[in-house]
Parts: sequence; structure tokens; C-alpha cells
Amino acid sequence: KGKRAFIAGVADDNGYGWAIAKSLAAAGAEILVGTWVPALNIFESSFRRGKFDESRVLPDGSLMEITKVYPLDAVFDSPDDVPEDIKTNKRYAGSSNWTVKEVAESVKQDFGSIDILVHSLANGPEVTRPLLETSRNGYLAALSASSYSYISLLKHFVPIINPGGSSLSLTYIASERIIPGYGGGMSSAKAALESDTRVLAFEAGRKHKIRVNTISAGPLRSRAAKAIGFIDMMIDYSSANAPLQKELSAEEVGNAAAFLASPLASAITGAVIYVDNGLNAMGVGV
Ligand code: NAD
Repeated sequence: KGKRAFIAGVADDNGYGWAIAKSLAAAGAEILVGTWVPALNIFESSFRRGKFDESRVLPDGSLMEITKVYPLDAVFDSPDDVPEDIKTNKRYAGSSNWTVKEVAESVKQDFGSIDILVHSLANGPEVTRPLLETSRNGYLAALSASSYSYISLLKHFVPIINPGGSSLSLTYIASERIIPGYGGGMSSAKAALESDTRVLAFEAGRKHKIRVNTISAGPLRSRAAKAIGFIDMMIDYSSANAPLQKELSAEEVGNAAAFLASPLASAITGAVIYVDNGLNAMGVGV
């Protein structure tokens, strides 16, 4: 029987979420996505107008289908958490049921259950500021959008993930090594995400037989990465210094995600899996 995946954090065809959706679709999964509310209209209209058709092509020549797109803002758990200015913001007012709890309820109503949950989202309003110049609010916002958002998603989806299911997030090596420029508490957020991956693997494994892993991905020129401002330098650095001297493609991360979500990875949980051309293993650039 085909599996069903919910991928949070798809708003264009450039990021890791899109590539993961494609690899899962190529492996036969049904695809549901969660798209950040302010990005929803442009994503859906671009999709309808065929802007993504070229990048929807799967290895067998067919086009990836997305069964349903859910509006989502993963910094809010339930309607009570939404402040007035967001509620009345016209980019939000046009959509409904986009808090994490409501999205999980909608997916349950529409489909009953899922097998694969993917968190491919992050946000740090002060990412361009060094940690030493990061405000308390900026730091907490980075952790809220990039780390707690995963706990919240898993917490609300866990009741509808079938036993044997798999959950996955995306992390970055700035959590464990100094990457100047990845600021605003984003390095801290990724460290939390990786630690939480272990604890959540224990809790969701014991209680629900669900595996929890994270992929530490190398640099990709996504929309989010371009906003940080140093992505071209990181890609060049990796090409120059990694054991494999090629540019990383989003598809390589997508394929690793499909493996981790599959029964081939049935004993892998609580792991940080590097998909980075091996750059993490280097101690010095040569
Ligand atoms: P991306 O721009 O494709 O994805 C980030 C997504 O997060 C966007 O679609 C954005 O709309 C969404 N988002 C932001 N705030 C949100 C919120 N509050 N609620 C719901 N959605 C929200 O960029 P990406 O680089 O593919 O990022 C995906 C994941 O990969 C992130 O966790 C990122 O940290 C991680 N990652 C990226 C790189 C890289 O070099 N691009 C490297 C390692 C890890």
C-alpha cells in the first residue's frame, strides 16, 4: 500500500522540501504539503499556472502531484496563540485553520492518517546578526520557528502517524561547528533541533513506534539560504574543501530523506545523517 507524507515548508521549487516531496513521490508516496501562510497564494497560483511543471517531472516522466496544500504557520500551536495583528493581517485573514493543531486536525479529517512527517522549515529574523549582537526576541523567534515548530508538529501529528512511520527534519552543521554568518540564534536553534531529535526518537519510538531523524544538509541556494547572504561562498567552500568536489543537489537530500522514510532504514532513529558531500568530516580545508 502506498504511503502518505506531510511535508511542512514547501513554498517554491528551489528548497529541500520540494526535493524531498519529489523523491517521496517518485517512491510512490502521496504528497501533502504545508505552506507558510504569507507564501501560500503565490505558491498555489504559480503551481496552477504551470511555473513548476518542469521541476515536477519525476524519473518515470510523470508529473509529481500534490494532493493537497495546507496553509500553515508553525509558530502558532492553536488559535488562542495568534495575536490580533496577525489575525487581521490580510495575508492571513484570507486563509483559515493554519495553526499546527488545526492543520493536524484537517489532515486527520481529510485523510485519516499519514506515514511520513517532514519538517523542512526555519526562520531567524536576526540571522544576519552575530550571536553576540542578537536580541532576546530574535533568539527566541529563531528557536520558536526553527526548533519548537518541530516539537509542535510531531506532537500534533503523532496521533495520526501510523506505527512504523517516520519523521524527519533538516539541520545544518552550524549547530556543532563555528559557521560565521549563520547568526541570530540559528546555530543555537539547530543545536536544539538535533538534541530534540534524540529525545523525540526515544519518546515517539517507545510510545508510537515512530522513527525520528534529522538530515544535516550541505549548502543549497534556496530562498531561505539566499536571505542569509553567504550561500554562494558556502557552496564554493564546500566544492573546494569537501571530500566530494561537486555541488550538492537538492535531489541528493531528497533521496536520503526517501531512504530514511522507508523500511530500508527501519533500525535508524535518533540520528543526525550528513548529506553534505562529506564536508563535516574535514578538520581543515585543503
Ligand atoms: P526554503 O526557503 O525552501 O524553506 C524554508 C521554508 O520555511 C519556506 O518555504 C518558508 O516559507 C517556510 N517557513 C518559514 N517560517 C515558517 C513558519 N513560521 N511556518 C511555516 N513555514 C515557514 O529553504 P531551505 O533552505 O530548503 O530550508 C529547508 C530546511 O533546510 C530548513 O530547516 C533549513 O534550515 C535547512 N537547511 C538548509 C540548508 C541550505 O543551505 N539551504 C542547509 C542545511 C539545512
